[in-house]
Amino acid sequence: MLDITFVITLMLCVGLIVSLGPPPIGKALPVLMYHQVRPHPSSDLAVSPETFEHQLQQLHQKGYQGISFSDLASHIDEKKPLPRRPVIVTFDDGYTDIETYALPILQAYNMPSTVFLPVGMIGAQNSWDGGTEPLLNYEALFRLMEHRVEYGLHTMRHSNVRNLSDQELSTDIQECINTLNVNQLPHLPVLAYPYGAFHRHDAAKRRAMRRVLDEAGIKFAVRIGSRINRIPILRRFEVTRINVHNTDIDWRFALKLRRGRLRL
Ligand SMILES: [Zn+2]
Repeated sequence: MLDITFVITLMLCVGLIVSLGPPPIGKALPVLMYHQVRPHPSSDLAVSPETFEHQLQQLHQKGYQGISFSDLASHIDEKKPLPRRPVIVTFDDGYTDIETYALPILQAYNMPSTVFLPVGMIGAQNSWDGGTEPLLNYEALFRLMEHRVEYGLHTMRHSNVRNLSDQELSTDIQECINTLNVNQLPHLPVLAYPYGAFHRHDAAKRRAMRRVLDEAGIKFAVRIGSRINRIPILRRFEVTRINVHNTDIDWRFALKLRRGRLRL
């Protein structure tokens, strides 16, 4: 006869396993999204150099190793091995404080990064936000390249992709690529959707958008999403990124690295 305690324990265990669901499949790939790194951050888009350093230190202590999108592509296409715990650090918009404040910290931790450039605004200001924050110019972009910084696309003028027709999106990406080629700035075929916006809820538009990106030679497109990617990447035009805030240190940052967000 079965012991009642054993049966109850068994039922509890089965219940727990069912409620937790199966363990996720594939290697985890957190992709971190930053915008500005500067002292006394006043906006939600900025982290302080101290926080940024603390986060890179935490990554280092937890055994994370930075990779670039080209490493990810070679892993997928040529089966090149990835580190045990890969992570990708990205910056959107290309603010000048990347060079001033983030670069010395990136260098100290030998961390590669990808900066997504609104190509038509290089060297100008973030006028799409009505802002006057200076953006890196070509001279600075070439300097940063020597320190494991790579570049991806963020449309020509920080356009919301949802407001562009397929033809406009195709023309915009081609213009980005042509402009960077004319200026001889090496870049990756990776797009970050400005505002994280893309045709998320409209299946037909999303399919058309994917076709446009594919035809333009785009290998990956990144959104926000606050989730951890798993390799193999099943949706390469919807690679999710973790929106990192200035308050994300210690357990908060650790939780975001594991789950992509703080809430359950
Ligand atoms: Zn942006």
